[in-house]
Amino acid sequence: MSKREEFNNKVSKVKIALILIIGVILGVSCVFTKQIDKLLGIGDKDAGFVSGEIIENSKLSVHYIDVGQGDSTLICLPDGKTMLIDVSVASAGDTVVDYLEALEIETIDYFVATHSDADHIGSVKKVFEAFEIKNVYRPFQISVDKSGVPTTYEKLGSYITDTTLDCNQVSTSTYAKFIECAYTETYKEGGVTKEAEVYCFYDGLVIESTVQDQEYVIEFFAPLVVNGYSAFDYSLTETYGYPTISYGNNTNNHSPVILFECDQTSFMFTGDAEKEVEEDFLASLNQAEKDRFENIDVFQAGHHGSDTSNTQELLNLITPTYVVASCGVDNRYRLPDEEVVKRIQNLPHSVNDYFLTTAESGNIVFGFKDDGSLAYTANKSGEKQVTIYWWEIAVGLFVVITIIIISVKVTTNKKATAKRIVSTTKRVSKKFR
Ligand SMILES: [Zn+2]
Repeated sequence: MSKREEFNNKVSKVKIALILIIGVILGVSCVFTKQIDKLLGIGDKDAGFVSGEIIENSKLSVHYIDVGQGDSTLICLPDGKTMLIDVSVASAGDTVVDYLEALEIETIDYFVATHSDADHIGSVKKVFEAFEIKNVYRPFQISVDKSGVPTTYEKLGSYITDTTLDCNQVSTSTYAKFIECAYTETYKEGGVTKEAEVYCFYDGLVIESTVQDQEYVIEFFAPLVVNGYSAFDYSLTETYGYPTISYGNNTNNHSPVILFECDQTSFMFTGDAEKEVEEDFLASLNQAEKDRFENIDVFQAGHHGSDTSNTQELLNLITPTYVVASCGVDNRYRLPDEEVVKRIQNLPHSVNDYFLTTAESGNIVFGFKDDGSLAYTANKSGEKQVTIYWWEIAVGLFVVITIIIISVKVTTNKKATAKRIVSTTKRVSKKFR
């Protein structure tokens, strides 16, 4: 073999080795496509988005209704029952009623009023008039008139005198209306008129279905029960539950923490609960409970995405895949808060691709696809853009680099190379003369 052939042989081997090494590096990088997509700001930002019909066939659906600056979330459960969490402001009453009627809902099995604020229970009268409600879940806040006397329909008024409880007293007419609705609601079952059951929600309250193929668990983890207190005497209070700890006059902090689990999928709701509740809730969890809160699939951002809530500590535990904030277009509180969005974007999950707001997306509905995976639809979807994935770039890069490596010619003759360089230099210098 001549020197030249020997050299060419060596060069070919080096070239093949180089192509292989680059191929392996790019190949391995494709395993981390998701992370690299996130880093480069590419990839499918609407990966979980599906058409409405797919959700219609789902045995479960969770609807974050677009009610402007407020909250109203509907859950259609696998056993055919429904849960409605909050009903937003009074002006959104028609929106909520129309939305439920469009789904041919006549009965609400579980109604949760997270707390007394008008952006959560403002349209309660309209909703209670339009539907039959079987079970009402209320906060441990006492409805009082302007002089601090419990209102006519308030059944927990006697607790006001217990100074150890430091009850939160609410004197708004909106809250009084809700309390009246709760304790006067009736529904028909088998031709018989029944009174709605009223519960005061507390840490440990569970609603579940154990029917095969319809299993789910809805569990409350806050507010915490006041130490040493036994359940209400139902004959006196017409209410199931326990007195729960007070956070003084902060109405938001009477909100519950709710975990809804169905088929390995989890949804979390915290109403307007703030930092203090999040801290107490985290401190109250045992290891088994903590495990259940790891990797929440859909987290409804606390307090409409406000910085009063959604602490780093909470987010670190739940690392949600999707975050939904219920807030109005150009709302005066500028929600979701910039700091909260940053906190969520910095989570290890690619959650920034899935941060949804009702302001931007309108009604947002989650459900299962035929293969059992979670997906969502919204009536104002982001425009579909051309999606570029890292693996596509990696393949392209590999082809280009391979062509470059193959086409680069290397020669043994150092003198010839030197001559060529000299002649090229001369040619160039002539040109510029
Ligand atoms: Zn609110």
